[in-house]
Amino acid sequence: MINVAIDGPAGAGKSTIAKAAAKELGYIYVDTGALYRTIALSAVRLGVINSTEDTVKMLDTISVKLGFSQEGTQCVYLNGEDVSDLIRTPEISMGASKVSAIPQVRTFLLDLQRNIAEENNVIMDGRDIATVVLPDAICKIFLFASPECRAKRRYDELIAKGEQVNYEDVLDDVNQRDYQDSHREIAPLRPTDESVMADTSSLTLKQSINLVVNIIKEKI
Ligand code: C5P
Repeated sequence: MINVAIDGPAGAGKSTIAKAAAKELGYIYVDTGALYRTIALSAVRLGVINSTEDTVKMLDTISVKLGFSQEGTQCVYLNGEDVSDLIRTPEISMGASKVSAIPQVRTFLLDLQRNIAEENNVIMDGRDIATVVLPDAICKIFLFASPECRAKRRYDELIAKGEQVNYEDVLDDVNQRDYQDSHREIAPLRPTDESVMADTSSLTLKQSINLVVNIIKEKI
């Protein structure tokens, strides 16, 4: 199976770019952030988000599954409930960053991610796909952009959804998540020696997609 790993910080455009590239190449797009978000949603609902111990205990009591439509759209299920939309809030973004630093959470999600990649041609996006989940991926891309540029994109997205946010808060969130994701002890966000570095700061979406598709085509 062809496995492509795309890692990078929040808001670099990973999901949009990876989804479009997967469509063009006929692969399945796997958004692993959705898994961490689902664990966070469950922890918030159960009131255990501020306790590592209780979050770990919770793992024995929940089921998390991914499903894919015929067009390749991903849905994520928490105990059988489709929570794909509910996990897209700033509160859950921050919660995901928090639970993702817990080793047991990462182990809990590891097989699920590897099994999908074993059975399908995938573009998988996350933070540790090249370093931990799919170290043998044929193509590893580290997608990034400046924090200001990423905050502006996320701000525009949230405003378009009708949410009331201000840019400075979004930028603070981006910087805080970057710090948490790259300084945690386990599976910190970082490129591998083999990663192709792709800076999307000054690229349009279309240019970014072309760049990624071309990098993948060169490797396969
Ligand atoms: O990609 P997304 O912003 O949806 O991810 C939410 C959070 O989940 C990230 O900030 C990161 O802390 C965590 N995550 C991770 N490893 C992955 C994917 C996401 O730690 N492979």
